Amino acid sequence: MPTNGQFQLMELPYEPNALAPVISAETLSFHHGKHLQTYINNLNALLPGSRFEGLSLEDIVRTADGGVFNNAGQILNHNLYFSQFRAPQENNQPVGRLAVAIEAQFAAEAADGQTAFDAFRAAFEKAGTTLFGSGWVWLSADADSQLEISQEPNASNPITRGRTPLLTFDVWEHAYYLDYQNRRPAHLSALWSIINWEEVERRYVG
Ligand code: MN
Repeated sequence: MPTNGQFQLMELPYEPNALAPVISAETLSFHHGKHLQTYINNLNALLPGSRFEGLSLEDIVRTADGGVFNNAGQILNHNLYFSQFRAPQENNQPVGRLAVAIEAQFAAEAADGQTAFDAFRAAFEKAGTTLFGSGWVWLSADADSQLEISQEPNASNPITRGRTPLLTFDVWEHAYYLDYQNRRPAHLSALWSIINWEEVERRYVG
């Protein structure tokens, strides 16, 4: 539910330079401070007097279309995106029940010498590099905790299909252009070192 009828910019759970060199402080200042703030301003301007006034962000995304959906979806997506990171770590791996589920679902796709997580990571990156135009790659779970990787165009989120969103890569150019220019695959490949897997696990176990 928005505070005072208005959605607010989320606070980053780390310092602006904490994710460098994977995501620079400059990229964060534009992406979080400008792009996300604009979606919030747009949604706050659209809500008064509409049937969405007073609804949670999730309920707006589940039921809206057009400009309300686009701006609410982008707020929800970015809130989940920015809160899934932490400072770079070597050999950064999933934990808990999510690690078990990735092992169970992706082991069969692993080539010789690859782990199930390697196979998952390759499939997720491929979904990101082959998504045409702007959008998001998602890992989500259904009611039976089954995992799925999906390409979602523009502002979309697997919550619209009744799934729980777990992990996402933003492939809009504004997410990486200052640091990587056109090199989207290099950006996606670098993101694995800053994933906060404890946070992703919390989303998975509910
Ligand atoms: Mn973005």
